[in-house]
Amino acid sequence: MNNLQRLQRRLADLGLQAYLATDLADVRWLTGFTGSAGTVLVAADRACFFTDGRYTIQANEQVGELLPVRITTHDAPLAAQLATLTREWGLESIAFNGDVVTVNTHRQWCEKLEGVELRPVDDPCAALRMVKSPKEIAKIQEACRLTDAAFRHVLRLVQPGVAELDIHLELEFFLKRQGAGLAFEPIVVSGPRSALPHGKASERKLEVGDFVTMDFGARHDGYCADLTRTVVVGRADERQREIYEAVLAAQRAAIQALRAGAIGKDVDAAARSSLAEKGLERYFTHGLGHGLGAVVHDHGRLNQTSELRVEAAQVWTIEPGVYIEGFGGVRIEDDVLVTAEGPVILTESPKELLVLP
Ligand code: ZN
Ligand code: ZN
Repeated sequence: MNNLQRLQRRLADLGLQAYLATDLADVRWLTGFTGSAGTVLVAADRACFFTDGRYTIQANEQVGELLPVRITTHDAPLAAQLATLTREWGLESIAFNGDVVTVNTHRQWCEKLEGVELRPVDDPCAALRMVKSPKEIAKIQEACRLTDAAFRHVLRLVQPGVAELDIHLELEFFLKRQGAGLAFEPIVVSGPRSALPHGKASERKLEVGDFVTMDFGARHDGYCADLTRTVVVGRADERQREIYEAVLAAQRAAIQALRAGAIGKDVDAAARSSLAEKGLERYFTHGLGHGLGAVVHDHGRLNQTSELRVEAAQVWTIEPGVYIEGFGGVRIEDDVLVTAEGPVILTESPKELLVLP
């Protein structure tokens, strides 16, 4: 069954007559189209792909065998073509993703699609996209391999006097030179700034005794990796070692808990209770992890309220951290594939505390 058929079966389960996929990650997952403008109307037994004139050739190549391709124009915009199709197909109701369609787009559809119910729903592709095919897993594995290589490459820069921005740019240059993209803007924070979980790289120069946290990932063939490591410059003191070991123990406990059938909040609790043994849980100020795939923060969260049931063939990040204002912070993040046999860690960068150079 291809992804389009999986969605059609899901629509039937949800009692939806048709779904208009506008989110580009969904469009790519459904059709293989890699351009920046595409929409798919999916009904029970048929579907149609829309793009504009910039993508006529590409759409015919990438989508043409799977679906009819229609080109939107100034005179025949998407809303007008949708109106024609809904009449031809006899549709009375079209669902759309309420999280991504703007108020203005919705108004245009309402004007053209008179008499058709437009129904905002949670993205029905999201849950399906969480369960990866072997091909998707291979792409994520390759993104992880490139990310590990970038980490190895950039370690030589971890020395006093080098700026956070230098490390950031070297990570970016290395990944792009390997033919990969960036899954997101890398985070490089050092010294007291390492207490900022999502701080941006600055001109601050590394000093002996700094924690340096690097959070980055490659995007390969449309799929992301997401890795965080914290290292120390020159020499680590006792407190730094204690905090590092506590975060590492919490991460290992959470990875062990990431099994098919586990509930999201219980996986999160495995990390949080491990940190509690060291009195550090109040410094863990974000969720444990997120789904990983075509976008870096893909559908699904592992946090204190997550009721989501973990399934085989899902890929999650596990990234506990401890952040102490004025002192610094540690985060350790890996990408983990859930299998029937247990968790498989896809990122392989070393996790013992590295003191560099
Ligand atoms: Zn990350
Ligand atoms: Zn992450």
